[in-house]
Amino acid sequence: MALSQLLSDNRSGALRQQGRAYRLSLPGDRGEITYSPLLWNLKRCFYSHTARRRRRKKGNSSRQLGSRFHRHVRHFNECSRGHCDCKARFGTGIGRPRSGSPLQQALLQREAFLLDYELTPFASEIVVSSDRLNLATAVDELAWQKPSSQGSKKRLVLISWKTGYSVGARRSRSKKGSSSKMMGSSLSHVVNSEEGQHQLQLLAEDRLLRENGVTPDLAVIVYVLRERDYYVERLREDGFWASEDTASACWQEFSDFCCQHIKRRHKKNRVK
Ligand SMILES: [Zn+2]
Repeated sequence: MALSQLLSDNRSGALRQQGRAYRLSLPGDRGEITYSPLLWNLKRCFYSHTARRRRRKKGNSSRQLGSRFHRHVRHFNECSRGHCDCKARFGTGIGRPRSGSPLQQALLQREAFLLDYELTPFASEIVVSSDRLNLATAVDELAWQKPSSQGSKKRLVLISWKTGYSVGARRSRSKKGSSSKMMGSSLSHVVNSEEGQHQLQLLAEDRLLRENGVTPDLAVIVYVLRERDYYVERLREDGFWASEDTASACWQEFSDFCCQHIKRRHKKNRVK
């Protein structure tokens, strides 16, 4: 029930991103609501001292590849009912990727991953929000995994796609001279690496889905790579996060951070 509600809200509501805000128009009496973007808040809470920039691959096209890849993924899921709204949404149609292009390779890797893990995707770019925390983000893709044995249930899988990264980016991204670890008391033992930031983002997406009554059985980051096969990293609540308690403490710390910001903003509005 919660999942179908989330999907129907997404398909009938309109989402716009405006600078640092997500504006989500929901049908019925819920009207338009403005949310703060998840990633921006995560950054402020846990890794705002990041300075070292990721070196982009030659041609500087990895960002472009990422956005085209995500549009294709959305098209596969959302335009399959005979009506393609890509042109209306993005200004250009989806087009067929050139043979041998990085985009085509990335899409083929996605197909291979879905096949290997027996996944049937059914939704992408799903906006997940929290009124409590004044947060919203869009999760990349949701899929059903075939039951592993007769009598067991199909599993809900949350997928976060990453293009243009090299796997094993565990080097700290902190400024020289500052701590190489993340900020915040719950993550003071965690290196501020790309990998750590991706795990943190996935944890937050997982928790926001749960706040909406949707519980993924599995959450994964899938790196699609040019040089080799895709690479899957699970949400490691017991590895990166040391224990389930660390993940809970981290989410609690982040929730407090967001609530404080809401309070502060309300105060500012009153003074005006
Ligand atoms: Zn489309």
